[in-house]
Amino acid sequence: MSELLELTAAQAIERIEARELGADELFDLYRERAAAEELGAFLSVAGRDFPTAGEFEDGSARSAAPEGPLAGLPLAVKDLFCVEGVESTAASRILAGYRPPYTATAVIRLKDAGARVLGKTNMDEFAMGSSNENSGFGPVLNPWDRSRVPGGSSGGSAAAVAAGLAPWAIGTDTGGSIRQPAALCGIVGLKPTYGAISRQGMIAFASSLDQAGPLTRDVADAALLLRHMVGADPCDSTSLGLPEPVRDPTAERLDGLRIGIAPELASGGMEGIEPGVDAVLRSTLETVEELGGRVQEVSLPHSGHGLSAYYVLAPAEASANLARYDGVRYGRRAGDGTLQALYERTRSEGFGPEVKRRIMLGTYALSAGYYDAYYGRAQRVRTLIAEDFRRAFEDVDLVITPTSPTVAFGLGERTQDPLAMYLSDFFTVPMSLAGIPALSLPAGMSEGLPVGVQLAGPAFSENRLLDAAHALEGALAFDSSAARG
Ligand code: GLN
Repeated sequence: MSELLELTAAQAIERIEARELGADELFDLYRERAAAEELGAFLSVAGRDFPTAGEFEDGSARSAAPEGPLAGLPLAVKDLFCVEGVESTAASRILAGYRPPYTATAVIRLKDAGARVLGKTNMDEFAMGSSNENSGFGPVLNPWDRSRVPGGSSGGSAAAVAAGLAPWAIGTDTGGSIRQPAALCGIVGLKPTYGAISRQGMIAFASSLDQAGPLTRDVADAALLLRHMVGADPCDSTSLGLPEPVRDPTAERLDGLRIGIAPELASGGMEGIEPGVDAVLRSTLETVEELGGRVQEVSLPHSGHGLSAYYVLAPAEASANLARYDGVRYGRRAGDGTLQALYERTRSEGFGPEVKRRIMLGTYALSAGYYDAYYGRAQRVRTLIAEDFRRAFEDVDLVITPTSPTVAFGLGERTQDPLAMYLSDFFTVPMSLAGIPALSLPAGMSEGLPVGVQLAGPAFSENRLLDAAHALEGALAFDSSAARG
């Protein structure tokens, strides 16, 4: 195996800047690996399915100069980010063949910083799922064990980074879709504060929750990628950027840092947590203390209701967002009779079963007569959860939880049981509802598979979060090389 694959993105950039490594050489290495991969991680690859940067004759926004701080590094992009002229489907058959006329702001920023799009990664259709089995274009396999799922919905991005098919990737997280696949694949995943990154050009799932973020081999790479994604955008009125620049994380100790553990978001609060996952969390708490951090109990009394609130709110927003796929404006069109038949056939054929389930749930929750009982009530629960965190952060600097209650589960194991699937997000959904940043860090192994722990902080505390994760990462020394073997 090429020793270049062992480099983190930041290390590769250093080598390129020192002229010890060619940006094109690295890009070609990854392009060949991505084009030949057998995990199902990529839906399209540069050079095979769309031109690589530099091959566009018009020199338009699609071609990135391999200059700037990201030095021409290849970037895997979840398929729900629009990239001009490149098929962008959010892994839905209803968008098959759709080539957007513009590029998502987050991707433009990364290209302006010198990143080059390596390929579009597979995902759960419209980001709805926790296993990547809801993709309209087939599942993704976990590189640690190909009989298991990589998590979802950013499963392609996570598997690509873990397997060394891309140095790093971007994904999106609505209720856990960056953090949970990062945990199941043994990499770092960060969901920033809501609003840190523009949603312009991201194919919408649930707009009040959707947020882009990095999936990387280590914490330093997550900071680097985040730095070049954030910023307010006039095209997204909910975007704010971050109040201070994203720093390179350097901390090696946690002296004085107060880390809260909430019984409601640990083994006491949830029945389905695997003993192996709990054991990794406990040993991580010991490491926190060895590094000088203080572990203390906090209470997040309403967080146990997060999942119920999320599965009203996210489908409600999705049902509204997905109304635009009518066979007229985007992608697929079926039916040649009446307008009604056009809508019905296009949507019946184009959407997969999970997407239909969410549209029905969401439409019902928003219907006259039920709106107050479901949507209104879930909104109130959301506020209570946000207040829980606000109060907890008066006593502690960060909160720690497992990222996922289980390690990667078998392909097909939960597809017939949506409720079991939804439980994968038990620990990640509360932070999404509160809009606060949270990071999943690989912290150990159970049953031969990676286990992630989640750190969450107050809104805009990304630098603190990254620093703490960096210190823990150094002490935990998680070895991810087996996934690239
Ligand atoms: N698994 C959750 C869902 O299916 C979260 C998905 C996401 O974060 N995009 O809704």
